[in-house]
Amino acid sequence: EVECRYMNGVGAVSGGAMLAIFQDVTHVEQASQMRRDFVANVSHELRTPLTALMGFIETLRGPAREDAVARDRFLGIMADEANRMNRLVGDLLSLNRVESEERVRPKDQLELTGLLQSTMNSLRPLAESAKVEVTMNAPEGPVSLIGDSDQLRQVFTNLIENAIKYGGSGGRVDIRVESSERDSVMRGPAVRVLISDTGPGIDAQHLPRLTERFYRADSHRSRQLGGTGLGLAIVKHIINRHRGRLRVESEVGKGSTFIVILPR
Ligand code: ADP
Repeated sequence: EVECRYMNGVGAVSGGAMLAIFQDVTHVEQASQMRRDFVANVSHELRTPLTALMGFIETLRGPAREDAVARDRFLGIMADEANRMNRLVGDLLSLNRVESEERVRPKDQLELTGLLQSTMNSLRPLAESAKVEVTMNAPEGPVSLIGDSDQLRQVFTNLIENAIKYGGSGGRVDIRVESSERDSVMRGPAVRVLISDTGPGIDAQHLPRLTERFYRADSHRSRQLGGTGLGLAIVKHIINRHRGRLRVESEVGKGSTFIVILPR
């Protein structure tokens, strides 16, 4: 469609120029289509809890007015819906920030094992309430690299949180750190963090799209667990900023391993 419009508009330009402009137009068209999709998605994601809130307000004003038990139950649901909206707005702001910083080289000198340990500790209450055991294996001694420590903490928080959430009760999450002088993917000194769970796994058809905003492999489960659908999109942008890579290996029925590869 884009091609036809362009050809009608500028018929007389030579082949080479045509191709160049054509690609440009396609790019602009794609970018504005993505923006429209994004706004539609955000509106939908916000409207769902908002509609629920409005419904409960009406019920509390009317039929449930004198019913103390129903009132408490509805207020509990309303608090959950408001929390969902709050998490969504928080993730949108994070996404905005990490996207705007993507081209700025991070520059903190940090130690990865300690950062992972403290991220794991802050997720311990979640793991305990989900009855998931989290373990870590790392090389002896410090693993140093240059990065943005707040953002990398967010990467590992999102990935470990997903592993706990989707892994489910009675599962295990194993975090492994591997450092090498010549990583086969980075072709130089790099560190790999592998986060494995014993959850349901992810069907191969979903893997290429997992880091798209609002893409969910299992929409029902994500919503049930309070997911915003933005966690892996945020992870992707932060890893890009660190010139790293994200890999996912998954087998349905067995579990998933998310692998973060960072240059050292
Ligand atoms: P959400 O907020 O929905 O968890 P994410 O961007 O973090 O969003 O993840 C995108 C989707 O990828 C999830 O909805 C889920 O379907 C799938 N997913 C992510 N991590 C895992 C995992 N460890 N096991 C199974 N599915 C996962």
